[in-house]
Amino acid sequence: MAVDPHIDTILAGIGHFTDMQTGGLVPPLHMGVTHVLGEGGPASGYARSGPADGSHFERMMILAEKGADAVGFASGASAAQAAVAILPEGCHLLMEANGYYEFRDMIARAGAVRGIMVETVDLCDLDTARAAVRPGQTALIWAELPTNPQWRVPDIRALSDLARAAGAALLVDSTAATPVLCRPLEHGADIVLHSATKFLNGHGDLTAGALVLADAENSMALKNYRTAHGTVLSPMSEWLLLRGIRTLAVRMERACGSALTIAEWLASRDDVEVVYYPGLPQSPDFDRASRQFLHGFGSMLSFCVSSRAKAAAVTKAAKVFRQSTSLGSTESLIEHRAVTEGVGTRCPDTLIRLSIGLEHPSDLIADLADAMDG
Ligand SMILES: *Cc1c(COP(=O)(O)O)cnc(C)c1O
Repeated sequence: MAVDPHIDTILAGIGHFTDMQTGGLVPPLHMGVTHVLGEGGPASGYARSGPADGSHFERMMILAEKGADAVGFASGASAAQAAVAILPEGCHLLMEANGYYEFRDMIARAGAVRGIMVETVDLCDLDTARAAVRPGQTALIWAELPTNPQWRVPDIRALSDLARAAGAALLVDSTAATPVLCRPLEHGADIVLHSATKFLNGHGDLTAGALVLADAENSMALKNYRTAHGTVLSPMSEWLLLRGIRTLAVRMERACGSALTIAEWLASRDDVEVVYYPGLPQSPDFDRASRQFLHGFGSMLSFCVSSRAKAAAVTKAAKVFRQSTSLGSTESLIEHRAVTEGVGTRCPDTLIRLSIGLEHPSDLIADLADAMDG
């Protein structure tokens, strides 16, 4: 393999994979739960602990994110629970306030059990972030790239400097960016979190998660937590995930291109109040996104219409877009986000969220035009 291959090259060949036993170019599907104890002990023990020398997916993520180590999980949520579990009791955790709504509550509850104070602030505003960090007490800053559902872009290098000065670590939930658009570890992050359920798998047929670490120091603690809670990634899901991840770069290229076209089309319409997409030059995050993203600005965008009723009607009227939550699959999805998030949402009730898939962009635009004019 080339000395420093492009991400496309890494993904296409699953890190230049060769099965040492058969010469196969695709990792075998190994379903066994337990293993014979051989000379000098087994290479693998019991399946709940994961392979002793790491899984194919974990090695793939180390290469894709340029990490020191990676730990795979059964879901993004179980990866997040593990990240909280290794923090010191009674510490302070500073979390993005305008990010993935399920994690806000989930992390606050997980932290509360161990006396961890979870404070949510707008981490895309550096002055706010700086004022909220408590040197010596803040153990983790939890950012999201870009934030869901308004796709704001934090300055990872600046947050990393802030974290370092305070003795804290920086975690970036990079689910919506993927390593194709950005490798947060290269910008100073300590941990990258993925819901591999989304773009990495890309086919909407499994749940998976990962933590990629700049420093392998915490791997064992994370794996021990995973073993104790039974949240290892199942072999069948891992095998499918490795099939999906091979095409991540081309899927992202197509979806990002369509998303930009659709964002520009939406921005040109009089009945659209605002478009949230960091790839539009008028976006407040355009400069930050341009500095940190490669190959595109993501396939997620949102826009606001004049009223809650109109947002509901447009969402319901779409035909090519499927009215459904989640993101990062081949089919495009539309949702009236505040309704999905429910009580406690911070999302404007006029906001429509789109996950752009792989359909022809003209069909997607025609569908939106019909839904909005109809
Ligand atoms: C979906 C999602 C998660 C949660 O991951 P699961 O695989 O559903 O557990 C976390 N972060 C972001 C940004 C997500 O979109």
